[in-house]
Amino acid sequence: MKNNGGRGLSPTNQLPPLTAQATMGLIARFVRSFAMNPRLFVLMFGLFILAMGGACAAPPTPDTAPGPTTAVVTAALTPTPDPYLNARLRMVEETMRRRGLKDERVLKVMEKVPRHEFVLPQYLPEAYADHPLPIGYGQTISQPYIVALMTELLQLEPHDKVLEIGTGSGYQAAVLAELVDEVWTIEIIPELAQSAAERLQRLGYTNVHIRTADGYYGWPEEQPFDAIIVTAAPDHIPQPLLAQLADGGVMVVPVGPPGGYQTLWQLIKTGDEVKAFNMGGVAFVPLVGGGQRGRGGQ
Ligand code: SAH
Repeated sequence: MKNNGGRGLSPTNQLPPLTAQATMGLIARFVRSFAMNPRLFVLMFGLFILAMGGACAAPPTPDTAPGPTTAVVTAALTPTPDPYLNARLRMVEETMRRRGLKDERVLKVMEKVPRHEFVLPQYLPEAYADHPLPIGYGQTISQPYIVALMTELLQLEPHDKVLEIGTGSGYQAAVLAELVDEVWTIEIIPELAQSAAERLQRLGYTNVHIRTADGYYGWPEEQPFDAIIVTAAPDHIPQPLLAQLADGGVMVVPVGPPGGYQTLWQLIKTGDEVKAFNMGGVAFVPLVGGGQRGRGGQ
């Protein structure tokens, strides 16, 4: 009490005097027994050296001590393996290259963009199958082959301004965003526009501008566009979109009656002239909104 009191230790740090005395007595008896028995002394000394050796052999060196931290850093630096990579490569090989798509820039992008991030969880096993999938609100994410074909038909250059009508899941917009500096995309269903915007942001596509509106009328403030892609089918070519196409620009649009097959058109504008190329039959969800004849906003 007296000694410790002077150092100002708190009561919890103090050794009770009785215990100290008892401990000292024990040590004294221990030492005396060694002195009287040299063999026991040698044995205990040997054990002591061994124990010290063990302790020195495995000190917590700086290399081993921060083990968990090192592991965490390594995990952060190593990209997570993509379990869908093989499926995606196979999709591009089997459904695109073999069927005649040739634009390597587009094909490389199709190998890169994670389509599984754009489908609903229940469709994950089909994310790389070559067919459209429901995305809610009666809409679909387009068939991968058609996405690649339409992208190829746009004949994009890196600095092109591109407008997409029908954002849907945002997948086509992501493909475009890999190929050009900036993409503008319009979706008429606010919930889809919202979730596509969040998804694209999460995946790092900062060069996509999304607007909730009737895409039939285009995005006049941003015209002219070098390329316009319409991913829902109007029953006629939307004149406002044609007007917002730059001289030399390309528009790809499926045109036809709702609920059936439509014709995919590649339109190339030169001055006042528009050349139209028929690219075959396709099946798209209808473009809805004010611009549609006789259908209103269905
Ligand atoms: N490109 C999309 C799929 C398009 S599905 C993707 O990659 O996932 C067609 C989309 O067009 C639907 O989301 C539908 O809501 C939208 N749409 C239909 N009519 C529209 C209009 N008038 N303006 C803008 N979007 C429209």
